[in-house]
Amino acid sequence: MLNIVIFGAPGSGKGTQSELIIRKYELKHISTGDILRKEIEKHSELGLLADKYISKGELVPDELIVGILGTILDENKKIKGFIFDGFPRTLKQGEALDKMLREKDTSVVAVLNLSVEENELIQRLLKRGEISGRSDDNMETIQSRLDVYRNQTEPLKEYYKKQGKLITIKGDTIEDVFEKITDTLDRML
Ligand code: ADP
Repeated sequence: MLNIVIFGAPGSGKGTQSELIIRKYELKHISTGDILRKEIEKHSELGLLADKYISKGELVPDELIVGILGTILDENKKIKGFIFDGFPRTLKQGEALDKMLREKDTSVVAVLNLSVEENELIQRLLKRGEISGRSDDNMETIQSRLDVYRNQTEPLKEYYKKQGKLITIKGDTIEDVFEKITDTLDRML
């Protein structure tokens, strides 16, 4: 299976690139952010709980998100691979993902690390906030999301680097980044 993690800070373009990747490589896109936002819209119990964390820019507890992921992995057996977008976000989640995939005799093949300058991230997120209406795209919450990224998510880079899976991608435009991603994936296939 072609299981790919798309990795990067908030606003680095994970969702945008994931959409392009799934179209070309026919993978199943799992965005934990999208899943949680749908639950919030439905006013489900999970949504109400998640909203408390998301609106403050904090992470939803690991057990909760790992549970959701487990269910999705079980539901999608006959597919070419997954693209994990917004997951894993902590070392614990990374270890849980490896374990869940190992149980299915598969693994993460590559981690695409989208590298973007912090100033650029903030500008993008503020701009997105003007149109998205997302409760977390405002200056205060953006700062805490970037802090959470640095403290809790970035250590995963070392985790994947040690496994030889981390591929850092830097680009100026959406097309430029996507071209670099396809070059990398085509070489692996
Ligand atoms: P972004 O990467 O732009 O911050 P996401 O849509 O991936 O946007 O995530 C939005 C919010 O949803 C996060 O700030 C966090 O509160 C919550 N969330 C998403 N994925 C996870 C995860 N894997 N673990 C914990 N919380 C998550």
